[in-house]
Amino acid sequence: MDAVRFVREKLGLYGVGAIVFFLFSLCSGLLGTLLGRALWVLFGALALGCVYKAFHNVWKYGLWLIGIYVFSGTGGYFLTYHDAMHLAGGLVCELISIFILLSLIYTVIDMREKTKHKHPLGLWFLSLLIFFVFANLSLSDWSYWLIDKSPLYLYTFSEIMIICSGVYVLWVPQVKISVRNVCPVCDCELRVDKRSCPSCNETENFFWCRKGEHHIIKCPYCNKLTLHGGKCIHCRKKLKKGVECRSCGSEHSLAEWIKL
Ligand SMILES: [Zn+2]
Ligand SMILES: [Zn+2]
Ligand SMILES: [Zn+2]
Ligand SMILES: [Zn+2]
Repeated sequence: MDAVRFVREKLGLYGVGAIVFFLFSLCSGLLGTLLGRALWVLFGALALGCVYKAFHNVWKYGLWLIGIYVFSGTGGYFLTYHDAMHLAGGLVCELISIFILLSLIYTVIDMREKTKHKHPLGLWFLSLLIFFVFANLSLSDWSYWLIDKSPLYLYTFSEIMIICSGVYVLWVPQVKISVRNVCPVCDCELRVDKRSCPSCNETENFFWCRKGEHHIIKCPYCNKLTLHGGKCIHCRKKLKKGVECRSCGSEHSLAEWIKL
């Protein structure tokens, strides 16, 4: 299955674990029994552990997302009542939630500025919006369930949307933005130099520093950006003369890697 492989490669084991455990947690919660509630907590905790592992550079924003979820959820829940007290409380909760949301947007844009990444954020904004909207819908549907035990279709669908969009909202800054995209020698912006492996065609990102004319690669041992050739400037391990393909393991000199 290509789709499964794609998700597994992009998200990593812990990213997939986070989604799976969140879904398990959701299903257990829907059982409505005592055992279900216990499993809801257990799977939820495992999912949060995976989030911490998968998005270790930006896991704090996971807490912000929980904040958005709690406040907009509570807000949405209060707004289903029709008296002034609840409406006022609901509005305050919504405002707090929107404040956290805007802070998150500001922080990620700022981070993108500092790490000099050009990754577009359109889809990221959209995911954050989806997260916010469904966080609102989720608990309000749950509140109707409290009143008349109506089935939790909207709640279930909302939670699935929240899980997927939430993971994407963390994935983008973790993978695309949080790591500095600058030359480790002269600290200026790097150009991505995409090449493909002459043996297996797998693409690999190399980097080119125009100012110092440095070829920069990811160290195969510590995964940080370092000069090609010699020793890694971070972990001091001796690098191979060529560059080893992460996919098929064969080693080729930089010139042999096919420019794309
Ligand atoms: Zn440079
Ligand atoms: Zn290869
Ligand atoms: Zn340089
Ligand atoms: Zn290294």
